[in-house]
Amino acid sequence: MTFVGTPVLTYFFGKRWYCSWVCGCGGLAETAGDPFRHLSDKSLKAWKIERWMIHGVLVAVILMTGLLWVNSWQQGGVLGSFSQAYSTAYGYIIGMAFSGVVGVGFYPIMGSRVWCRFGCPQAAILGLFQRKKSKFRITTNGGQCISCGNCSTYCEMGIDVRAYAQKGQDIVRASCVGCGVCSAVCPRGVLRLEGAGEDMDQRTEQMRTVRVEG
Ligand code: SF4
Ligand code: SF4
Repeated sequence: MTFVGTPVLTYFFGKRWYCSWVCGCGGLAETAGDPFRHLSDKSLKAWKIERWMIHGVLVAVILMTGLLWVNSWQQGGVLGSFSQAYSTAYGYIIGMAFSGVVGVGFYPIMGSRVWCRFGCPQAAILGLFQRKKSKFRITTNGGQCISCGNCSTYCEMGIDVRAYAQKGQDIVRASCVGCGVCSAVCPRGVLRLEGAGEDMDQRTEQMRTVRVEG
């Protein structure tokens, strides 16, 4: 999956195939966390911190995975009992405290995608593929934008979508999970999810109807 499935699926669908359709954390964020999606920090400072943190986690995970493979190959001769201590510490600090307590418990404070934005190594890998090599993107026909800000307000990943729309720039961001809500809440039909085909347009239209009626 890492070397074949993930690149191929991300090329066609962007990271949405995993972050919105497969991942349990994503599923929780888009159900239980949905009422809090507008609380995500949209500032440049948050974006900067996000990039440093998520790529730092990715590097740490790659190094540790490599080390654990070598350790296993050497039948525990490299790390000794440290591998068990590391595993326990990772479970508590990352698994429980970060992705659990902060990632889910802080929905009402920091929005619904804290873990996905700042800590998930899988999101980091998918994001790199999406930014460099993917057909998926959100396109804009900027001339129609009335700067209402709905798109930015409801972006759960803290992307200032309006800034792109005003400049008429496609939104190619590593963090975008392709939820489609920015497109669904735009009153002018400025935003469109490209690379997903006809079905996506229909789904966006359905989401727009549900949100308007809701
Ligand atoms: S699809 Fe739109 S609302 Fe959803 S994460 Fe991407 S930019 Fe944000
Ligand atoms: S929701 Fe649409 S009209 Fe409003 S700021 Fe975003 S792109 Fe512009």
